[in-house]
Amino acid sequence: MRRPSPDRPASFTRLPRVSRRELLTGAGALAIGVGLSRSVRAAPRLHLRLLETSDLHMFVLDWDYYHEKPDPTVGLNKVASLIEAARAEAPNALLFDNGDLIQGSLFGDFLAREEGLANGRVHPVFAVMNKLRYDAATLGNHEFNFGLDFLERALAGAAFPYVSANIERADGREFAPPFRILERRLVDEDGLAHSLRIGVIGFAPPQIMMWDKAHLEGRLRCGDIIASARRHAPALREKCDVLVTLCHAGINTRPAAENEENAALQLAAVPGIDAVMMGHSHRVFPGPDYAGLEGVDAERGALAGVPAVMPGFWGSHLGVVDLSLAHDGARWIVDRFAVEARPIYRRESGRVVALAPADPAVEKIVSIEHEATKSWVDQPIGRLQAPLHSFFVWIGVDPVAALVNAAQLAYARPLLAATPYAELPLLSAAAAFRAGHTPEAYIDLAPGPIALRDVADIYPYPNTLAALRVTGAGLREWLEHSARIFERIDPADERPQPLINRRTPSYNFDVIAGVTYKIDVSKPARYDASGKPIEPDASRIVDLRYLDREIDPAQEFVVVTNNYRADGGGKFPGLDGRGVVLRAPDSNRDAIERFLRAGEAVATERPWSFAPLGRRVTVAFDSSPSAARRLADAPGLRAAGLENAGYLRFEYDLT
Ligand code: MN
Ligand code: MG
Repeated sequence: MRRPSPDRPASFTRLPRVSRRELLTGAGALAIGVGLSRSVRAAPRLHLRLLETSDLHMFVLDWDYYHEKPDPTVGLNKVASLIEAARAEAPNALLFDNGDLIQGSLFGDFLAREEGLANGRVHPVFAVMNKLRYDAATLGNHEFNFGLDFLERALAGAAFPYVSANIERADGREFAPPFRILERRLVDEDGLAHSLRIGVIGFAPPQIMMWDKAHLEGRLRCGDIIASARRHAPALREKCDVLVTLCHAGINTRPAAENEENAALQLAAVPGIDAVMMGHSHRVFPGPDYAGLEGVDAERGALAGVPAVMPGFWGSHLGVVDLSLAHDGARWIVDRFAVEARPIYRRESGRVVALAPADPAVEKIVSIEHEATKSWVDQPIGRLQAPLHSFFVWIGVDPVAALVNAAQLAYARPLLAATPYAELPLLSAAAAFRAGHTPEAYIDLAPGPIALRDVADIYPYPNTLAALRVTGAGLREWLEHSARIFERIDPADERPQPLINRRTPSYNFDVIAGVTYKIDVSKPARYDASGKPIEPDASRIVDLRYLDREIDPAQEFVVVTNNYRADGGGKFPGLDGRGVVLRAPDSNRDAIERFLRAGEAVATERPWSFAPLGRRVTVAFDSSPSAARRLADAPGLRAAGLENAGYLRFEYDLT
């Protein structure tokens, strides 16, 4: 961990904590005057507020298109009233968006797939953001999901600048300027106006080249975040008074690898940076998610001593960074700060309590497209014979993965038939996309007609279908990495033990159909999140069989999955884009839609179960309160009671 930059006052990280109220009113200068030099105390002082949205994912309204009802936990229309309130408190405020904006809800899909923004139409999200007077923004990884042409048509509607310092076109021309210097007239504590130059520089995860290879290869380049920052920051800092980074990345405390994905902490340590706006990880900072990490002040909101914020996802929070600037005679110096992520709601005994009203002006701007999206997603496309839910994926009861895998196999089989791989056994991998990142985030569909809306619920990402060649040995490592999500269970402990490590995203838990296997949760996980073996001798995957025979490590298979996984997403060992034998032009969601329209049946065989532990051990996991209605699908499972966060806890005996 490097120290804070040398051009910062030495007292920067040791300054006493100042309340936000003191910082806003200037009373803080008196409260902590002893910590400041005489010249600073006598100099003009002004307060600059930086506001951030990130990972909005086209949750423009507080509306759940999947379930056709308002959702009080999402929505830029809710954040809009927090923005208004934050501006009313602090006249010198700038507003930024940190990316993952245009993709992620059915509203975004409708606009990309059906509307296409022909004839210079302004993307509705930019109509809203222009009205909200955003000052600048950067690109997230999901901006590229619909291809560059759509992205460029969308960006043309933004009345504010986009910056991206580590992205350029393949021919070396810029895609967006690396940075912008915003000139703003700001008012100091005595009411005098000063002209300040606020530098804004942006960064996206270099992994976009892998995740959206099909759209970007040969068209774009994306370099290392830290290297790009070091290249631009010194000269930029000379030209501005405050330097703000828009970094579509979260926090990783390990020493940064080349092309580090979550590089915010290392970025904060680059000399000259005054604030880091974060995102991508869909977490809240400051807050307990990152407590106790080296270089991270999760209470105060600082990385390497530099103020930093991350405002959750889907409009759950507004990031607020307050900087107090003093003029030392030659230049402005940031000498104090306060950071918070302001929520639009909180949970009280599992109930959602709204903390921000919806801004009706936002809904008015997008109402035509919003209504059109609602009718688009309502079209029925087929019928479900049995309930489809993701309540019990952690014990191997996963009808959703069964459907996705059946659809992927049905799609890929004829395409592979004409290739040299036709003779290899065909398997399919599906991840648990909607398995409880909030108590509402589960799939829960009754038998009967199924609409397009439901398909997007089943498969929320616009990934495209891909298939790759893998050996029996490689298949085992793939499953070992998936099994990382389970906590290690102690067979000697008679108390209920937590089954799932919530820090591991459920979308990296793949169920592979076409083989059968058991998962031994008494063993440690072989891999860490980066795909490095941490317990090279440990093996959670046992009894891995194809056609009821133990798999030969040298045997070859073809596995159907999505482009994200095939190209290295989730850092699965051995999966890096090599071995891909099919890149389909269609999305996995399209494959599911086709499968449902064709009315084909889904196999009921479950690919995996837990390996017996020799004695009775009870594990516990959280699911939706609605899961109680589907207990009949999971023999041996019992409800253990409601949790404060709004989940229903279940217990299950491994025998
Ligand atoms: Mn995101
Ligand atoms: Mg992202």
